[in-house]
Amino acid sequence: MTNKLRILVLIGIIIILGSGFAFANSKVTIQLDGEILETDVDPIIVNDRTMVPYRAVLEAMGAEVSWEPAARMATAVLGSHRVQVTIDQTIGFVNGKTKSMDVPPMIVNDRTLIPLRFVLENLNCGVDWDNENRMVIINSPENVDLTEINSIELEETESSYRIVVQANDVIKNTSTFAYEEPVRYGIDICNATFPEGIGQISEENDIFYGIRFSQFNEDTVRIVVDLKEKLAGKVKLSDNRTEVFIEFDKLNQNQEDDNEPNGERDEPLIPELDWRASGKHIVIDVGHGGSDSGALAKYNGTVIYEKDLNLSIALRIYELLQKAGANVTILRDKDVYMTLYSRPEAANTLNADLLVSIHNNSATTSAPNGTEVLYYNKEDEKSIYGFTSQEVAELIQKELVKETGLKDRGIKDCPHLAVLNKSLMPAVIIEGGFLSNPNDLQRMVTEEFKEAYAISVVRGVINALNSSVEN
Ligand SMILES: [Zn+2]
Repeated sequence: MTNKLRILVLIGIIIILGSGFAFANSKVTIQLDGEILETDVDPIIVNDRTMVPYRAVLEAMGAEVSWEPAARMATAVLGSHRVQVTIDQTIGFVNGKTKSMDVPPMIVNDRTLIPLRFVLENLNCGVDWDNENRMVIINSPENVDLTEINSIELEETESSYRIVVQANDVIKNTSTFAYEEPVRYGIDICNATFPEGIGQISEENDIFYGIRFSQFNEDTVRIVVDLKEKLAGKVKLSDNRTEVFIEFDKLNQNQEDDNEPNGERDEPLIPELDWRASGKHIVIDVGHGGSDSGALAKYNGTVIYEKDLNLSIALRIYELLQKAGANVTILRDKDVYMTLYSRPEAANTLNADLLVSIHNNSATTSAPNGTEVLYYNKEDEKSIYGFTSQEVAELIQKELVKETGLKDRGIKDCPHLAVLNKSLMPAVIIEGGFLSNPNDLQRMVTEEFKEAYAISVVRGVINALNSSVEN
């Protein structure tokens, strides 16, 4: 399904120049890095905006351009920089974060017009207008290809050891791995170069013997920590994505508060999380909240809000994943409003390895019923994260059907949903049951249903994480 991104719907796609580029009808030329760029479609003017061939310009400078028709979203990637824009929306995504533009992309006479200045400047290019010569002047960025790693250092805090990696530009992606015999944990920094070629930090402590790093292949820098214990590091990125932190918690001498107060409920059967996958960061998005109630239904005179149901299920998932030793973050733990885009953006900022969005369904008629998981596979998910969105969806759906007893509606490819298509990592949206269906609703209000939903998600997530480190 990732090949969908490559569909050549882009033929004839052109770009709108940003504000400040209004002028009368006459031929406009494009200069790219000092040379005139010949294009098969002449630049044209629509609504006082000059539009130039989008694909031609971006591909001439070596950018990858893709178009997702269902989402009406164009993505341009140049080096480590990624810009996503959606038709009729003034909010774009730059390196996984929202950024607004003054003119939204639009479709005019069957042509997709994209704001050139927004796209190019955020790909780190220079864009200028030479009024005298009616020329758009574009300069490719100096560092197009690989992000340079400037330094790799070890810091110690009271509770952890922290490896700090500093780069000269945005870090596109990271990928973690772990091995036994001997025990080691590592991180690959994708699309990066380490000019020193090879290096090490031979500082031994209670957790590891030392750290080695090198240019692993032409576009990957690999950092390996030789461990004394089976411990996974937690990977974080700085806000501007130019620093990576790999954090190892110091060994905790008193583990006794592990025994929770004698369980009011029997602990469910949860698969053991492989230590090698325990550093992977799971972000739980809790559907709706605050003024956005989501779906609602009346049951025995009480109004059931989807936002509340989602929250209680999500909190249980969070609790169970933490108990399993997973590295997990929940985006809301109380009844607060969150915008749609802030959800994938938060997961991107947190450098999540998996985004799981908790919802329940509703329809305009009472007939539709059952449980389903929505997904959208992005490029390179398998090689970077070790599993795809679709695989996670299948693993969770299988458990949901078994545990909740609701009708199996299957998994669904949904490229148009922002939580799925604006997140950089594998992501799924779970629609537990239909609040609008009386039979589903009757089960959904029970504690048993919420527990079944939570257990299913936890099992599916752990099975997915474990699958990423097998063999
Ligand atoms: Zn919902």
